[in-house]
Amino acid sequence: MSRGAGKVLPGGYAGRVLEVDLTHGTHKVSPLAPELADQYIGGRGFVARTLYDTVPPGAEPLGPENIVVIAAGPLTGVFLPGCGKTHFGTKSPSTGGYGDSNMGGHFGPGLKYAGYDLVVLKGISPQPVVVVIDDDQVSIRPASSYWGKGCIETEAGLKRDLGEDFEIVVIGPAGENLVKYACIGHDFGRQAGRTGVGAVLGSKRVKAIAVRGTRAVPLADTKGVYALGKEMYQACFAKPGFKSWTPYGTAEVVNWVNEVGAFPTRNFKTSYFAPYKQINGERLRADLRIHDKGCAGCPIPCGKWSRVKVPSSGEALVEGPEYETIAMFGGDCCLEKLDEIGYANHVCDDLGLDTISAANVIAFAIECFERGVLSKDQIGREIAFGDIASVLYLVRKIAGREGIGDLLAEGVKVASQRLGQGSERYAIHVKGLEWTGYESRYAPAMMLSYATADIGAHHNRSWAITFDVAKGREELAGKAEKVIELQHIRPLFDCLGICRLQWVEIGFDLEWYERLFPLVTGTDKTWGQLLQASERVWNLNRVFSARHVPGWGRAMDRPPARLLEEPVPDGPAKGKLITPQQLDSLLDRYYELRGWTADGLPTREKLAELGLEREATELWGKPGRDMPK
Ligand code: SF4
Repeated sequence: MSRGAGKVLPGGYAGRVLEVDLTHGTHKVSPLAPELADQYIGGRGFVARTLYDTVPPGAEPLGPENIVVIAAGPLTGVFLPGCGKTHFGTKSPSTGGYGDSNMGGHFGPGLKYAGYDLVVLKGISPQPVVVVIDDDQVSIRPASSYWGKGCIETEAGLKRDLGEDFEIVVIGPAGENLVKYACIGHDFGRQAGRTGVGAVLGSKRVKAIAVRGTRAVPLADTKGVYALGKEMYQACFAKPGFKSWTPYGTAEVVNWVNEVGAFPTRNFKTSYFAPYKQINGERLRADLRIHDKGCAGCPIPCGKWSRVKVPSSGEALVEGPEYETIAMFGGDCCLEKLDEIGYANHVCDDLGLDTISAANVIAFAIECFERGVLSKDQIGREIAFGDIASVLYLVRKIAGREGIGDLLAEGVKVASQRLGQGSERYAIHVKGLEWTGYESRYAPAMMLSYATADIGAHHNRSWAITFDVAKGREELAGKAEKVIELQHIRPLFDCLGICRLQWVEIGFDLEWYERLFPLVTGTDKTWGQLLQASERVWNLNRVFSARHVPGWGRAMDRPPARLLEEPVPDGPAKGKLITPQQLDSLLDRYYELRGWTADGLPTREKLAELGLEREATELWGKPGRDMPK
């Protein structure tokens, strides 16, 4: 029998699952099934499998049947470059489909050291609580005194109450108020930002989860892991990218994205922000940064702990702003000062709002105001692009669901549907999740990535824009192939529980991870088998969302009209557009390569090939029934 074939739990896993019933205030601990580790690896894979098996179609995202899943991977907490990752998942209140978000910091390692790979939060607590996991001791404690407080005060307060050695994740007022894009905060600046995971915690009245662990992660070959880990650190430090990228973190890419005409600007009206050199990585390092800040074990700390000053609002400390926040509050909301972007970042972090969606929504609201879709009376004041006071006003209204904030808290899809008057054209999202920091009208692979990402418009499943630029931006051939390749590799990092930026940004070879996995786990799983597990997760998530959201498939794999019908008006991508016909040809090729129907759903055969026969029956009915071609 092949080792790792699902009979014995491999190395790398803590070995236990914690299930918390918030409705009844109870919990239970069970062993992690070796089959789960074998087929789904960890992290994102555990999230996907657990959501599919637990949340029934028809469950309300903010109701008692939804769950929040928190999972580490087999490499999480093993002292290696980038081993601080944790995955959070839920049925998304933004899209109604599969939702997840990945977070750095130290929480995942803490979970592993406490002896858990997977935590499942079920039901709804009658009052605000903090779930405290202290090795084997699990308690659900009242948190009413923290309800209403910001993320920063809550995390600091809980560290005082429980001990500095607890790792803590929290929600802010936005999560309590069920803002559809509320995030989960950690480490005073790290977030699981996307898909509204913070709103679902809020619906369960979980203000925070705290963990402290004292165990080691069991390894199949401790000496081998140690030796290879040492080599990995040395190789990382020797990479040219270590010196050119690390000083700026993700903000390093601001210049390039503008120069290729892909920087979202003025609610995605255009793709070039003229003052970009005022808000780039160089300015961040020179003007704001106090010191670098990284996740557990990271040799290339991308976090930039910064001091920002805005005369009208004061001074604040913030981790960032990183690229996405710069792109969305900078280009998309047209803030020209890095201090202002950093301050908006700080306020969102404290209120518990995803900066990407919040900025996207605010840009949408400002365009609606400019076009007369929203009036001054509806908003409560005039608002304008480039005005920090407008941005902060709306951020606070949204987090509190006050006045216009109640509508905007629903996200751009719902807000535009309720406002009508053609505002859907200015609502830049896919499937209800707001678009992120890459305007893609001159980047077919990136456009396809956004259209097909499993959580809605998100870049990190397949950051294919560099491939577009390298291989020809008019060219469609080979783009679907690349997107699929990346959609398997990049989410595999989320299954393993390790950061992908060492590979993406520093040029770390994937071979390192291929060598590492058997040393950690003791299995003989090949890289190809790991990628197949990632493909299994991708298909499982497609089935999950198709069963939960009518029409999830080709009809929803589309950018909004603005990005398909309005050529870029200026900048390096001036005049460029991917037409609906070109998008259709990309989708045709994508579905064909994936083994999906022309409507964008996994075929019975593809699901059977991945060991998902039960899911095939749930999607298509019993074998023998007709399935669309
Ligand atoms: Fe964390 Fe950034 Fe390092 Fe990745 S590169 S491990 S996100 S600090």
